[in-house]
Amino acid sequence: MSGNSDFHILTAVILALFALVFGVLHFSVKSQKFSGWVGLAYVAAFVAYMLASTRTPSTPMGLIFLSTGMFWIFSLAIARAIYIRCNAVFPVKLVGLGLTVATAGLIWLSFVTPDIYARTLLVNAGAGGLLSLSLWPLWKAGTKLIDGALFGVIATVAATFVIRVVTINIVLGHALTEQSYTESTYVWLFQLTNGIAALALAIVLLFAAGHDMVLHFHAQSNRDPLTDLLNRRGLKGLFAARADEKQGAIFMRTIILFDIDHFKLVNDQYGHAAGDKVLQRIAQTALDLCQGYGRVARTGGEEFAILTKWMPVETAQFLAQNICDSLRFVVHPELDSSHKVTASFGLAILSDTDSLHDGMDRADKALYHAKRNGRNQVALAKAA
Ligand code: GH3
Ligand code: MG
Ligand code: MG
Repeated sequence: MSGNSDFHILTAVILALFALVFGVLHFSVKSQKFSGWVGLAYVAAFVAYMLASTRTPSTPMGLIFLSTGMFWIFSLAIARAIYIRCNAVFPVKLVGLGLTVATAGLIWLSFVTPDIYARTLLVNAGAGGLLSLSLWPLWKAGTKLIDGALFGVIATVAATFVIRVVTINIVLGHALTEQSYTESTYVWLFQLTNGIAALALAIVLLFAAGHDMVLHFHAQSNRDPLTDLLNRRGLKGLFAARADEKQGAIFMRTIILFDIDHFKLVNDQYGHAAGDKVLQRIAQTALDLCQGYGRVARTGGEEFAILTKWMPVETAQFLAQNICDSLRFVVHPELDSSHKVTASFGLAILSDTDSLHDGMDRADKALYHAKRNGRNQVALAKAA
């Protein structure tokens, strides 16, 4: 195998490098939840590769078993990473059962009725089977091109694990013994295909990590961190995306603005942290009451906006009034029980030619009237 030593070193360096890259991603990017498992997979792949490439006829069985274990851990950790990425429940019992049966088989084929081909097939089928577990969540949850790429590469790699053993068996027949195994074509092919598979998998997983990061940061840039509602930018995007869903003449889109009454008092009396809790609770209340009717955004400090779906104006008015009536009954443990938090609302009907800015401008004027009129009420804006 000395002729392949450059290839061995290169593969080992690549595996170690990927372990490092995914490890760094795990620790430095909080949203990268699956990278830790991929990093672990590549540590295992590195150890398995080092053990396999230094194997001689006198290598003790313990080390061979360790190499197999690492090979399986590689597949297992990749599968675990994919389940995390797809938000799927990992089939722990199934994996436990499979691993127990495979380990028993491995012991049997090593000590009771030694058969190097059957053992190699079992080792590879085990790794391929564990890796194939990730195909299910990818198939179910995957909608993007990157999910398709992951599915394709994982399916190919898993199939290769088994196909290469069968192919070698057909080509070489049963002529090999434990002693000649380490010099065989199979071992060379094993190293080569493992190197290529690990490289292809790492590249597609890196693309997936990059893709997920871009999506995550894009979603974050549309959200308010305190309440997790859409922010002004998110609302703008939503307005543009839903502009052409009109369903009939009596259906209108409306914008409802609301601003918490005398909120400065809450901060002054109970502190900013208490104020934040109140804001979060009011955001959640509005979100709950708007489900199915529209989307809520936090457009300013204690100001919120609701972009309703297309609906009769009376329904939108009812929605605004319902939120207004409900807010004062929300319990805020941070405040004195006699302290009721209310809000004032302005509702504007959006015409077909209105920009979001036009609608918010009119709703804001109506809101101002609601404040002037005594607060804790809904005011309807004049038509455009
Ligand atoms: P009004 O009824 O006229 O709306 O009176 P107000 O006191 O609610 O209005 P004002 O604009 O005077 O004060 C708004 C307060 O909201 C002042 C500011 O400290 C507070 N605020 C803005 N953003 C936040 C936030 O993120 N957290 C907390 N705790 N307070 C905030
Ligand atoms: Mg305000
Ligand atoms: Mg206010």
